Amino acid sequence: MKSAKIVKNRFFSRGPFFLILYVTARCNARCKFCYYWDNIVNWRARPHLEVDEIEKITSRLDTLQQLTISGGEPFLREELAEICTIFRKNCDVQFITIPTNGILTSKTEKTLKKALEDNPGVDFRIGLSMPEMGEELDELYGVKNSFQQHQETFKMMKSLRDIYSNLNIDVGIVYNMYNAKRVREIIDYVINNMEGCNPIVSVVREATSVGKPRMEDSKNIEVDELENIYTYLRESIPKRNNRPYADFMNIMRDQVHEITVKTLRDKKMVIPCKSGEKLMVIYDNGDVFPCELLDEKMGNIRDFDYDLGAILELKESKQIVEKIVKDECHCTWECANNNNILFSDKFSVELFSRYAKYKMGAYA
Ligand code: SF4
Ligand code: SF4
Repeated sequence: MKSAKIVKNRFFSRGPFFLILYVTARCNARCKFCYYWDNIVNWRARPHLEVDEIEKITSRLDTLQQLTISGGEPFLREELAEICTIFRKNCDVQFITIPTNGILTSKTEKTLKKALEDNPGVDFRIGLSMPEMGEELDELYGVKNSFQQHQETFKMMKSLRDIYSNLNIDVGIVYNMYNAKRVREIIDYVINNMEGCNPIVSVVREATSVGKPRMEDSKNIEVDELENIYTYLRESIPKRNNRPYADFMNIMRDQVHEITVKTLRDKKMVIPCKSGEKLMVIYDNGDVFPCELLDEKMGNIRDFDYDLGAILELKESKQIVEKIVKDECHCTWECANNNNILFSDKFSVELFSRYAKYKMGAYA
């Protein structure tokens, strides 16, 4: 049933397959590598999309495979559970990912419980951010006792996971200049102390459509070392975990890692990008962009009667998409490259062929 919906959304959905919706610019942390920094500081001046506005957006959208709810800190948004339910009712969304800094334990518990209870058919993936551990996390977040609070949040989520089988916990490690020497230690900690969590290493972004990392030097990373870390992660991580389609997702993760390393080394397109068509970003103030990196605003959804399709039909939007294709736009943004694999004949055939090998015990 779920596989049939993935196929339907991949081949027949008229809208994006993957939508990223920012629900707030407010955050309780002050991370050194934060690229949303300017908006976080000015969050009061950015009126976020209200629930009735989100209702209108979703009622004009086709079915959706993946929704990522971002911010700021998404769990600071009071109506977060309600927003998840709206997407399930109006877009039959299959997967909802919510990244969080993990330091708002009780608020997160209340909201997450409601979202899980109200949407049992949706697979939720919480991306618990953990770019550091101990005092280093406190220092990086700029908040005292962050690590202690973070681990409380993990324990709380673990108990929810025992009740709700549609909850999965990933631990997001943003690899950057500041944690480069400690990433292996963080991976080990997750595997040994955070049972059933899946460590995910992503690369700090150089620049985005909404700003640069707060400390720009955080992007100074070594590609060889990154490749070694990917190998370490792949060899350390338990083969079995409770993510839906775990084997398949692990193979896709390997492909994304290979794309990232090759893009950084060759500085050219490795995989065609479908952002602006099959992946879209709506920021908290309603601004629509093809991705989180290109500084190419397509419009504000409030000016188009909340109709994303109307924005995509604009001549200017089509020109942005054409430019992405023509210029062979490339980057290491993992969300886009995961999506791109599914929309690339070459990479999706490779994915299925590796999966077949895996099933035959021939994929290392
Ligand atoms: S990186 Fe995330 S948690 Fe950190 S300040 Fe920015 S929005 Fe908040
Ligand atoms: S490759 Fe895609 S995701 Fe990356 S900057 Fe270009 S359009 Fe955006």
